[in-house]
Amino acid sequence: MTIAVCPGSFDPVTMGHKDIIVRAARMYERVIVAVAESPSRKAPLFSLEKRLKFLNSSLLGLDNVGVAGFDGLLVEFAKAKKASVIIKGLRAMTDFEYEFQMAQINHKLYPEIETVFLVARPRYSFLSSSTVKEVAVYGGCLDDLVPEEILIKASILFLASSFSLRSAQRRQ
Ligand code: ADP
Repeated sequence: MTIAVCPGSFDPVTMGHKDIIVRAARMYERVIVAVAESPSRKAPLFSLEKRLKFLNSSLLGLDNVGVAGFDGLLVEFAKAKKASVIIKGLRAMTDFEYEFQMAQINHKLYPEIETVFLVARPRYSFLSSSTVKEVAVYGGCLDDLVPEEILIKASILFLASSFSLRSAQRRQ
């Protein structure tokens, strides 16, 4: 059985992430969505627990997909889960440079692992968790940006956190 991991911060999960996970689930017998507890590049807005909840609600019905948090090296998590493939979504050249480096380093650390890139569908190629947060902070509509299963919960949580985000932005 080939097991693939789909890693990311998922802060929060977007329609772009979901599309990649659904496509990976068609390609591999088992897919584990690996949620970085404390991503190195950015401090998450939502707690790991909330990010896991959002993903679990969004992926209901995908029987070969599981969701788990991890801290530390992705390759160690992959090894522990007996995964041999890392799935990454590619939106633009900016994604490519970073993802290219990560694929090389992960291969160096764990030569048995392969990184597979799935090209973002054009309708999601502009979409990131950061753009979702930007829209939400200013009260914009999140339809078609986040999975509809989490739309209401995410909007309420965003409203609550937008006040603190906005005051933090004003302070900068
Ligand atoms: P973000 O860049 O949205 O903060 P993550 O760090 O959680 O996302 O990214 C997890 C993975 O999902 C990465 O491989 C990233 O390239 C991919 N991804 C994120 N958004 C999209 C999208 N809109 N379409 C395709 N892949 C995406």
